[in-house]
Amino acid sequence: LPSEFELIRRYFQRPTPSAVLGIGDDAALLRPAAGMELAVSTDMLVEGRHFRAGADPEALGHKALAVNLSDLAAMGATPRWATLALALPAANEHWMAAFARGLLALAQRFGTELVGGDTTRGPLCISITVVGELPAGQGLLRSGARPGDDVWVSGELGGAAIGLAEPGLAAAAARLDRPEPRVALGEKLRGVASAAIDVSDGFAQDLGHILEASGVGAIVRYESLPKFPHADTKLQRRCVLSGGDDYELAFTAPQAKRDAVAAIGAGLKLPLARVGSIGKGNPDLAVLGANGKRLKVERGFDHFAA
Ligand code: ADP
Ligand code: MG
Repeated sequence: LPSEFELIRRYFQRPTPSAVLGIGDDAALLRPAAGMELAVSTDMLVEGRHFRAGADPEALGHKALAVNLSDLAAMGATPRWATLALALPAANEHWMAAFARGLLALAQRFGTELVGGDTTRGPLCISITVVGELPAGQGLLRSGARPGDDVWVSGELGGAAIGLAEPGLAAAAARLDRPEPRVALGEKLRGVASAAIDVSDGFAQDLGHILEASGVGAIVRYESLPKFPHADTKLQRRCVLSGGDDYELAFTAPQAKRDAVAAIGAGLKLPLARVGSIGKGNPDLAVLGANGKRLKVERGFDHFAA
């Protein structure tokens, strides 16, 4: 059997020209470009918690990195480097090869170099840390929303949760297993959006984090939300408002930026929907139905909820 070091060399070590030093020493050495700030984020995927036992390793490699790149997108950062901490029950080379293929294909697409990590035997668990860059002071914080701003959402909501509920629906399952991080959108929103977050735990809950951090309220029209199509409108509503794992961006921007936001969407060929507005007052989200009445909204995902 190949050693731990041989496996790392074979499956994870690739040229890392944008790092001072990549895999192989006690630490990687990284140098941000002049005038840039670093954005650092970690996300962990645990078997039985975030994915089922026996999940396709190539899709897992994609998703483990995608959810991290999504956090950088939500900050407006450009991905540069990543580290991978991997616990594996056994040195299964077929699994590692497929996992690395999924991860490294996405890394290459977004110019992200894998510069280090840790590999150990244990219950399957994948933790990635990503490092991105952005011009100093231009990060898209959750705390920047102001009364009068518009609320926007990219792509479509609810697809991943529909895929979880009905794995037979291939298009919905693809949203769950192969999310597309909205990196280019996040970069373009620097200097345009006032606040941003990625929709990982459900639209209502994640927009709620912006409202809390900004000390503002919001009114959203359910009709305006971009929805993954489904005939069961009750299931669809639950998934659109409270379903996790979509990794779209929800963001706010001043009304004066409407044309700028529309131009960004057109340039990226990514639908951007204006779904509501920010108001003064409590950090309260009101979702209004077609009749103008407030809809009941379930909480999104919470690992430690009773
Ligand atoms: P140490 O014992 O000093 O922590 P390791 O033996 O854990 O070093 O790792 C050797 C090298 O391989 C280090 O540069 C580390 O960053 C890298 N590495 C280990 N596991 C991974 C992995 N899963 N992906 C990428 N790099 C890894
Ligand atoms: Mg180590």
